[in-house]
Amino acid sequence: MTTETPKDKASVGPSKPVGAAESSEPSLKDRGNLFEIAMRQVDKAADHVKLDAQIRQILAQPKNELIINFPVRMDDGAYIMFKGYRVQHNNLFGPYKGGMRYHHEANLDEMKALASWMTYKSALHEIPFGGGKGGVKVDPGKLSRSELERVTRRFTHALGNNIGPDWDIPAPDVGTNEQTMVWMMDTYMNVVGQNDKHSMRGVVTGKSVTSGGSYGRREATGQGVVHCVTEWASDHGFNLDGCHVIIQGFGNVGSYAARLLSQKGAVIVGVGDVGGYIANPEGINPHKLSEHVAKTRTVAGYRGASKIGREEFFGLEADIFVPAALELELGLKEAKALRVKMVAEGANGPTFPEAEEHLLAKGVSVIPDILCNSGGVIVSYYEWLQNKRSERWDHNEVLNRLERRMKQTYAQVRQYVATHHVDWRTASYALGLERLQVAYRERGIFP
Ligand code: GLU
Repeated sequence: MTTETPKDKASVGPSKPVGAAESSEPSLKDRGNLFEIAMRQVDKAADHVKLDAQIRQILAQPKNELIINFPVRMDDGAYIMFKGYRVQHNNLFGPYKGGMRYHHEANLDEMKALASWMTYKSALHEIPFGGGKGGVKVDPGKLSRSELERVTRRFTHALGNNIGPDWDIPAPDVGTNEQTMVWMMDTYMNVVGQNDKHSMRGVVTGKSVTSGGSYGRREATGQGVVHCVTEWASDHGFNLDGCHVIIQGFGNVGSYAARLLSQKGAVIVGVGDVGGYIANPEGINPHKLSEHVAKTRTVAGYRGASKIGREEFFGLEADIFVPAALELELGLKEAKALRVKMVAEGANGPTFPEAEEHLLAKGVSVIPDILCNSGGVIVSYYEWLQNKRSERWDHNEVLNRLERRMKQTYAQVRQYVATHHVDWRTASYALGLERLQVAYRERGIFP
């Protein structure tokens, strides 16, 4: 988020976080403890694979939980204290890996859940990374570009050796983008000493292509969602051409999912975000909507659709729902309202366990986050490899590799579901957990 917006200086820092006062969304705090919900999902799969008690114990908590309070000088000269987080859940398979989120409701339990999901996501796709997540408790829309730069640089500096290209590798997430990653990289590179500077480029992924990022990373998560939807459609003999899609969240993931689905002929009939919900049964042009969002930061007020309420959105006549906003947006009430055939989780943890049970009972397919939204971290892995090897892969090579990897993992999960008669989320976790179990059994713990 690098747009200049009017600011309310007293409210940017953690002491007085800014709530989205005009928002129709329930507050994150009211939605329950995200880490407990994450543990419930893991426990179900852990029971299924009969995970060793010792391994369950290790995975039940992150290895490291870091909270950093740091001051930043605002444009008007005031100093504001910010709260930054980095949770490192597991690094059995490789460096901790995961996004940095800037959000006014960021909290430790949320970071713990998100970090653990990264561990299972990497394990499921056999990417040599562990799981981590972090961020800053701040509403980035309330800061100027230069304030955001100072927050990012000071936070990165304060993290010090807690990140590194072979230790812990941040990436974009909600409220951060390529620019944020480039500031992080530049700050990190400049403190390590000039001889090592260039070997440090891989300290973050999701950078701009000019500063060492990978082609294809920007659209990777949305593209991965679309690969899953396409696989699901061919499994179910479902024609995407002309089908109706609703999407919640129109940031990086939602907007690319919308554009790529519409290329397949899908019609986007409803979209919503923190600013409001809109619908048009004739279809919403995702390119035009993206232009509107780039200017106004919300889908609300888009001229090519009419304004609807949140409840109405979930009840829209559609075939596919892509949650691509924050966690725990899809509760039992929303699940009961949904009339879709499948839910493709672009967001991390969008679905309450009760809501998922309800959806599965009424025959709705749910493609879980750790399978469906993993395109981002997969291409992050390709970016990291390119940085290590001082290579640049062309756009098609990255996209082809991503497609192969997504389809391969999708097929593995499909096979697991067919053999073990479990739901797709349990199967996805089970595959990841089994791999972690084999490695822990081989390696034991030190000393
Ligand atoms: N934040 C993204 C996720 O939740 C990407 C992580 C990454 O690329 O490391 O998967």
